[in-house]
Amino acid sequence: MLHSPLFKFQHPTVAEIDLSAFKENVRQIKQLINTCKLLAVIKTNAYGHGIIPIGKKAVYAGADGLGVTTVEEGALLRDNGIDVPIHILSAITLEEVDAVIRYRLTASISSGEIARAISRTAVQFNQTAIVHLKIDTGLHRFGVDPKRAIAFCRSYYNLPSLKWEGIYTHFSSADDGDFATTEQQFALFLDTVSKLNMNGFNFPIRHVGGSTIAIERSDMHLDMVRSGIALFGYPPAQRQRGIISLKPVLKLKSKIVQIHELPANTRVGYGGKYVTRSIEKIAVVPIGHGDGYQRALSSKGETLVHGKRAKIVGIISLDQTLINVTEILDVKEGDEVVLIGKQGNEEISAREVSGWVDSIVDEVLASLMERIPRIYV
Ligand SMILES: *Cc1c(COP(=O)(O)O)cnc(C)c1O
Repeated sequence: MLHSPLFKFQHPTVAEIDLSAFKENVRQIKQLINTCKLLAVIKTNAYGHGIIPIGKKAVYAGADGLGVTTVEEGALLRDNGIDVPIHILSAITLEEVDAVIRYRLTASISSGEIARAISRTAVQFNQTAIVHLKIDTGLHRFGVDPKRAIAFCRSYYNLPSLKWEGIYTHFSSADDGDFATTEQQFALFLDTVSKLNMNGFNFPIRHVGGSTIAIERSDMHLDMVRSGIALFGYPPAQRQRGIISLKPVLKLKSKIVQIHELPANTRVGYGGKYVTRSIEKIAVVPIGHGDGYQRALSSKGETLVHGKRAKIVGIISLDQTLINVTEILDVKEGDEVVLIGKQGNEEISAREVSGWVDSIVDEVLASLMERIPRIYV
């Protein structure tokens, strides 16, 4: 932790995390996927929401397992008393094999060398290592080439102390709504699984998709769905809003720490990139790109003050952002500024912020640095 509990209540910039909204989103996704298992994907510090409290809440809300992308995150969850299966959804290195066994993490296997090392270490520790085979159907990040899957299993499936609990793939274009490509990848996956089955290589849990598949393609749910961003209140694509109504979990807020009243034609901020047009009120908000509030939002983004929009002016610095509050009646130092979330009748969603910088919701949320205290409500 970067801050003491006391500091939490002093720093004006905080991320408020609504755990009951999170729980409700988990419930909604569970309802969509019915009896199929839910792997709650909480990688990258739970998309910026704080991995420990979110991990605990996900289990409490009924997730069957948790998905992360680093061994460190998996170990951290175990150290905090979480006992459900924890999947490592990316490749691991030889150096991490020991920790995977010690912390009873479920590794994704796409390399023979790693399969051997996991087997060897599991034997040493007198344990059975639960693993899932990853098949590359076209994303080309990692996974076994479908053409090589049978040969791969002939070499590694029967290694001692390995339990091949599952098999999976990850789609390249589902979020973009390219279901022609997704269906091809799905067919290739099913064909690979059935060929493996015919050769005696069985995998009880088959899974292919994240939030988009949970929301739009019940025909592809199979035995488990790996949902991430939707649990935090944002369907991956705007087009899905009609299908499911999720509640954003994170609110990012700060306070005005100083207001300047400046005459017309005053240059403001680094490089004087903004020039006042008339007498204007410019407020300083103590958040910057050092907090993961992206510099690309300079002169583009908006914030909320008194339930009204206030534009970012000039260049965002490491720790400060300047906003134009000229139009906001009775504005004063100490007033709340909402950067993501609701204030009064207005709302700035993480999706809107992502649009200003040509990014995606995942990046806007997961970029928020740990130094911003998370307050759980
Ligand atoms: C991140 C990730 C997910 C979750 O995707 P969302 O679109 O956030 O639901 C699922 N599977 C894998 C392999 C991932 O890396």
